[in-house]
Amino acid sequence: MGEVGAFLKYKRKLPAKSAVQDRITHFNEFVETQSRPEVKQQSDRCMDCGVPFCHKGCPLGNRIPEFNDAISKGQWKLAYDLLISTNNFPEFTGRICPAPCEASCVLGINNDPVTIEHIEKSIVEMAFQNNWVKPKMPNQETGKAVAIIGSGPSGLACADELRSWGHSVVVFERQSKVGGLLRYGIPDFKLDKTVLDRRIDLMRDSGIEFVTHHNIGVDIDPKELLENSDAVVLCIGSTVPRDLPIQGRDLQGIHFAMDYLTQVNKMVGGEMQPEIDCKHKHVLVIGGGDTGSDCIGSAHRLEAKSVTQLELLSKPPLHRADDNPWPLWPMTLRTTSSHEEGAERKWSVATKKFLSDDGITVSGIEIVRVHWDKDSSGKYSMQEIAGTEEVLNCDLVLLAIGFVHPQLDNLFSKLNLSLDQKKNIATHGYQTSVPHMFAAGDARVGQSLVVHAIAEGRKVAHAVDKFLMSDQTTQTSRTLDNPYLL
Ligand SMILES: Cc1cc2nc3c(=O)[nH]c(=O)nc-3n(C[C@H](O)[C@H](O)[C@H](O)COP(=O)(O)OP(=O)(O)OC[C@H]3O[C@@H](n4cnc5c(N)ncnc54)[C@H](O)[C@@H]3O)c2cc1C
Repeated sequence: MGEVGAFLKYKRKLPAKSAVQDRITHFNEFVETQSRPEVKQQSDRCMDCGVPFCHKGCPLGNRIPEFNDAISKGQWKLAYDLLISTNNFPEFTGRICPAPCEASCVLGINNDPVTIEHIEKSIVEMAFQNNWVKPKMPNQETGKAVAIIGSGPSGLACADELRSWGHSVVVFERQSKVGGLLRYGIPDFKLDKTVLDRRIDLMRDSGIEFVTHHNIGVDIDPKELLENSDAVVLCIGSTVPRDLPIQGRDLQGIHFAMDYLTQVNKMVGGEMQPEIDCKHKHVLVIGGGDTGSDCIGSAHRLEAKSVTQLELLSKPPLHRADDNPWPLWPMTLRTTSSHEEGAERKWSVATKKFLSDDGITVSGIEIVRVHWDKDSSGKYSMQEIAGTEEVLNCDLVLLAIGFVHPQLDNLFSKLNLSLDQKKNIATHGYQTSVPHMFAAGDARVGQSLVVHAIAEGRKVAHAVDKFLMSDQTTQTSRTLDNPYLL
């Protein structure tokens, strides 16, 4: 702990963002950096409390009080070593994590929490500037081969871990570039793709092979991979979007959010011109989560005439409700940087039917207000409020209402793979029902967060390593970096 009582002296301060009218003219990141003394002051606010809830709030078990302490003492290299001992890719989480660590920071009980996410980004960017970030070369080769299907954060973390322990790793990806939702879901203004490419280059230098344009189950039979590898890991994400099967759904101009965001990301990456065009259109985004926000920010940059976002749930409170105390995840109103750029947000609305002036293209939607009742068991139920029906005009609709499960066709028809009740891949200790085949990430747990996907990738890597090395006379002496993950 650098400065005793600093949390009483200094206020939480986040880095500035560039002005809205400037940032919506491009897709670049717009969060400015803080100086070293500014980051130190924010780290000093860490109270080094007896029980650091932040550490448990982080799915990776990041050693937050320790790296704050190191920064307070000017030991940035030590802070970096502590950070990467539990997190393979702090440059991703430092930019786009909703920061469950901050939600459980003890200072947050009656003050503003420590700016942990930005401190994390500052540490890793300092490490890149000083050339501390190196390819993770293994000490020795094990002669074991692992095929990973899917290159999102879970597949990348799994590959990074396994390679550092000396296994030969090939990552297969059906898209033209590596990264999963980090590349084709999350827009560049939140995560610049040079940040992703910088990491992929390091992983390649460590000996990981990436094979793109290969849809496993279509271009290669998964059984072939099983025969040619010692283990196969499915990190295929949860990519089947939830639909909105109301009247008029077949009209032109209604798209799944990921179809739109993939095109926008490919446009920014120079891969294609988007076919879904929102220029000068009234854009309606259905769904109030991260995906919806990313649609809003992208639509602003592509010159939409107006953007409206609909959410079925009621507007959350500004502060924690009595039944949502610290250190639980705060069910409070989230205003993202994309919301700051402008969008009309409507809560407690149900969608009734899409409308069309010409019978071909969407021109509006009928909505109705709803209210939510909570019964004595805490269960919510929704009621439409009669007489509140309303028509909203729109030329383009983006459905951002979540994902239901991994894509089951192709891959699954060729494997005797068990699924759970939600049609995610069923596992026992990360092992699927198919021998030698493991699974992790959104494909196993359902749609989640990048930080969870990295944690999943690390954990499945341990399971795979244990399996691969169990027939060795010499057991590895590897232990989990963080015992809390066991
Ligand atoms: C638009 C959007 C924005 C988001 N924003 C955030 C955010 O700001 N912060 C946050 O923490 N989380 C965010 N998330 C959630 C986060 O991106 C995911 O939880 C995370 O990427 C899941 O990682 P994953 O590795 O399990 O899967 P994915 O990232 O989905 O990667 C799966 C990969 O597998 C590939 N694949 C699938 N099947 C095959 C096959 N048969 N053969 C070859 N390749 C295959 C896919 O092409 C894909 O590249 C967002 C999600 C979306 C959709």
